[in-house]
Amino acid sequence: MTTVLISGASVAGPALAYWLHRYGYTPTVVERAPAPRPGGYAVDFRGASMTVLERMGILAKVQEKATHLGEVEYVNAAGKRVASTSSTALSGELEILRGDLVDILYAETSDNTEYVFGDSILSLTEDETGVDVVFESGRKRRFDLVIGADGLHSAVRRLAFGPESSYLHDLGYYVSVSTVANHMDLDYAGRLYNEPGKTIGAYSSRQNTEAKALFYFSSGKLDYDRRDIPAQKELVAAQFAGIGWEAPRLIEGMRNAPDFYFDSVSQIKMDRYSRGRIALVGDAGYCASPLSGMGTSLAIVGAYVLAGELHLAGGDHVRAFEAYDVRMRDFVAACQKQGVEGARWFIPATKSFLKLRNLMFRMLPYMPWRNMIDEMSLKVGNAIELRTYEDLQPLRAVPPR
Ligand SMILES: Cc1cc2nc3c(=O)[nH]c(=O)nc-3n(C[C@H](O)[C@H](O)[C@H](O)COP(=O)(O)OP(=O)(O)OC[C@H]3O[C@@H](n4cnc5c(N)ncnc54)[C@H](O)[C@@H]3O)c2cc1C
Repeated sequence: MTTVLISGASVAGPALAYWLHRYGYTPTVVERAPAPRPGGYAVDFRGASMTVLERMGILAKVQEKATHLGEVEYVNAAGKRVASTSSTALSGELEILRGDLVDILYAETSDNTEYVFGDSILSLTEDETGVDVVFESGRKRRFDLVIGADGLHSAVRRLAFGPESSYLHDLGYYVSVSTVANHMDLDYAGRLYNEPGKTIGAYSSRQNTEAKALFYFSSGKLDYDRRDIPAQKELVAAQFAGIGWEAPRLIEGMRNAPDFYFDSVSQIKMDRYSRGRIALVGDAGYCASPLSGMGTSLAIVGAYVLAGELHLAGGDHVRAFEAYDVRMRDFVAACQKQGVEGARWFIPATKSFLKLRNLMFRMLPYMPWRNMIDEMSLKVGNAIELRTYEDLQPLRAVPPR
């Protein structure tokens, strides 16, 4: 049986483990966190990823946990509505909290996948027949293949492909999300306020019992300690100091939140998603940024394609990784383009563009092209043709090990 070590137990990792097990491989997932990571922001699915959820047999489970977020409105400093967007524009065809999705994927795979929590890969040494792995815990093991599904700051990418700086492209923004009280009484809805280069607001979650506070701001590269959460909170607070509307209450909520996410809005661009016996999937290989609305779809579809191509190539990883690369590339390009465009509209840089955007959003429902935004994002979600790997015969048997 071919053994595959997957680094990262969020979306791409468990989804890959699911498909690998189904094709007769033996997956092991190592996750740095001590347990499946709960909570988090809302993530959504569009187009081809909906088909993959269906083929995994988990579409109904994801639908059961859907956020059902409706309209998102934009307000002025006085809180008066100035524009809005449809739920599909920001929440896709199906939206779920990332933690709920992770729970579903973990439950679906934990019987057939070895999960190792609280550990991480320290070194990878590849030879002709496998990869020797040393873990931070000191343990040493050997696997046939290693896959990095460990996100934007992937350790596997750093170890196998070189420094993050060679692949990470900042889009010029930072993002912070945390769970706060739903003090605006948002009813399955979101409310956002903009100033040039800044977007602040919240959307309700968990049946309106709480809200996720969002802070996006444009900035050149910031120098900060990734482990110092209180300092990061103050950094975000300083960016939004003096902004009226609900900002003071959202900042206070963020300061006291049980969870806190802060990072640059960045993309990962690579010429190849594999090297030898090591490959990358999801954000680790082709992060499109939170503002693409396509990161989760990319992770789910990428896992499906990678496992499917391995199955089809009868375990020949060279042929499979090559095919995975070719099949994903245009899809990744379309999603990353949407990430750049999305940022421009979500965080308008100037007062005049902000006014223009709000005017366009106000007029859109009366225009013949009123469904344009929904259609465009669905088109990106479908910018890949999915093969039905299970119906395809492997090219040759998996070689005995
Ligand atoms: C604020 C925000 C909003 C977003 N909104 C959306 C949205 O609306 N729609 C959408 O589709 N996408 C959205 N995304 C993007 C989406 O969350 C990601 O694209 C998706 O989670 C990628 O999944 P992944 O499994 O590839 O990586 P991740 O979800 O980043 O998971 C990586 C995993 O690897 C683990 N890990 C990291 N380093 C190591 C290590 N050294 N060793 C072991 N484990 C490690 C991490 O703990 C984590 O569990 C958003 C992202 C953010 C930050």
